[in-house]
Amino acid sequence: MTSMLAIEEHWLTLARRVPSTHYNERPEGVTPRLLVVHNISLPPGEFGGDYIDQLFTGTLCADEHPYFADIAGLRVAAHCLIRREGEIVQYVPFDKRAWHAGQSCYQGVENCNDFSIGIELEGTDDLPYTEEQYQALSQITQSLVKYYGLKYEDITGHSDIAPGRKTDPGAAFDWRHFHSLITAY
Ligand SMILES: [Zn+2]
Repeated sequence: MTSMLAIEEHWLTLARRVPSTHYNERPEGVTPRLLVVHNISLPPGEFGGDYIDQLFTGTLCADEHPYFADIAGLRVAAHCLIRREGEIVQYVPFDKRAWHAGQSCYQGVENCNDFSIGIELEGTDDLPYTEEQYQALSQITQSLVKYYGLKYEDITGHSDIAPGRKTDPGAAFDWRHFHSLITAY
């Protein structure tokens, strides 16, 4: 089993912290009980650079790339991003309601943002994720289990809670490998 990471005041202490305002309060009494795995790359298929940080903090410039014109005005953010080299960036503290899932439904309950934590992997649906990303995701998951009581069975992909609308994290995400990292000991 991979080790876990410390969380203080709902922030991973070792993550690079890039605070976003793209969140609000969870409903009264609701704590995170679902982990949603996503992917993102900006521009699509290209890795590196600051564009994801910029999108999640509302500073992406619409005219820097043709694709950005459609998304620059979106107010979205996940709680965390795991970059290709395994670096973890956190945008929103885990106790807040980050705007990552959109219209969604998990086991009959709608609006998954209310009760979930969203983690983005820098990547695409079709290109294998890096081992560093699996290790970091596994470490974060262990922390969420310890600090919030997240259950291993309550981990899902964005495509599973928004079918027909979203495809991430895609066929490239190796669920079996991920599960082996979080449950093996
Ligand atoms: Zn997504």
